[in-house]
Amino acid sequence: MAERVLLVHTGGTLGMDPAGTPVTLAPGASVARILEQVPELAELAELRLTVALNRDSATLEPEHILSLARLIREQSVDYEGIVLIHGTDTMAYTASVLGFLLADLGKPVVITGSQRPLAYVRSDARSNLVDAVSLAARKVPEIGICFGDHWLRGVATDKLSVHRYQAFESPNLPPLAELGLHIQMHAHAGVFERQVPPGLGQSMESALTVYAPFPGMPWSLPGAATKGVLIQAYGAGNLPMERPDLQAVFDHCRARAIAVVITSFCPWGGVDLATYELGRMAVERGAISGGLHTRWAALAKLGLVLGAGGSLEDVRQAFSVSWAGEPL
Ligand code: ASP
Repeated sequence: MAERVLLVHTGGTLGMDPAGTPVTLAPGASVARILEQVPELAELAELRLTVALNRDSATLEPEHILSLARLIREQSVDYEGIVLIHGTDTMAYTASVLGFLLADLGKPVVITGSQRPLAYVRSDARSNLVDAVSLAARKVPEIGICFGDHWLRGVATDKLSVHRYQAFESPNLPPLAELGLHIQMHAHAGVFERQVPPGLGQSMESALTVYAPFPGMPWSLPGAATKGVLIQAYGAGNLPMERPDLQAVFDHCRARAIAVVITSFCPWGGVDLATYELGRMAVERGAISGGLHTRWAALAKLGLVLGAGGSLEDVRQAFSVSWAGEPL
C-alpha cells in the first residue's frame, strides 16, 4: 500500500501565477488541484492537501509559524510524511523553528517551494514537488528543505541564491540526501540527538535587535523594548571592540540581563571568540558565541527561549547544546 503523505500549502512562488500573484487555493481545496498540474505525484504516495495559508512568505509572522507547527503535529498522526509548500524568502527561518519544535515528531517534514511558479514552463516547481513527496514517503525523521537536488537539515540551512535553482545550502553540514539519478540518503539523515528543552512554542519573542556591522557604523543602544540582541559579526566573530559606543551596547545589555549572541556574517565556518583578542574582549563583556548557528537558527532559538520566559542563562545554555542536529 502506498505511503500516506499530507501536503500542507502555505503559499510562495510555487503556487503563484507567472506574474507573481498568489493563486488562492481555498481552505478546503482538494489535492486534485495540484494533481491536475503534477499528476505523477499520485504514483509516489497517497496524497491529501491542507491549505493552511496562502501568503508570500515575506509576510509570515511568528504566529503563522507556531500554528503551522501545531497543525503538523496534530495532522501528522494520519500520515507517514508531510510536505510543506512554502515561499523561499523565509523558508530557512520556518525550517529552523519547525526543526526545533518538531524534532521529536518521528516523521519527515519535507519543506519545499520553487524559484518559478508551477504554471511557468521552465519551472523548478514540478521537480521539487516530486522530490519532496518521494522523500516524505521514505519515513526518515528529519525536518528538512528539499530544493534543487538536495535535502538539507532545516536548522542548518540558509537561502543563498535569488536566481539559482539550487537556492539553499547547509554550509556547515553535508546534505541529508542527494537527488540525482537516484535518491542517495546519507547516513546522518534522521540521526541526531533530540535535546530541545520542554515548554517551547506557545509564543516567540520578536523584540530582538539585530546588528549588521560595517566599518564606521554608529553603534546605537538597542531600543527600550529589546529582549535579545544578535550581532552578525565579521569572520570568526570579530567586532571593533575598542569603540566606546559598541562597549556601551554590551554594558547596557549586561546591566539589563539581555542576551547578546554573536553569529558570523560568513555562511561557511562559524564564530570562535577565542581566536582573536577582539573576540575575547566581547566574551569579557558578556557575549554568547553563536558558533556555527545560522542566523535563522540563532533567531529561532532566541525567539523560542525568550518567548517561553527564559533567562539570560537559559539563552547561554541554548547556544551550548545542539537541540536538533544543528551544528555548533
Ligand atoms: N516571495 C516569494 C515567497 O517567499 C519567493 C519564493 O517563494 O520564491 O513567498
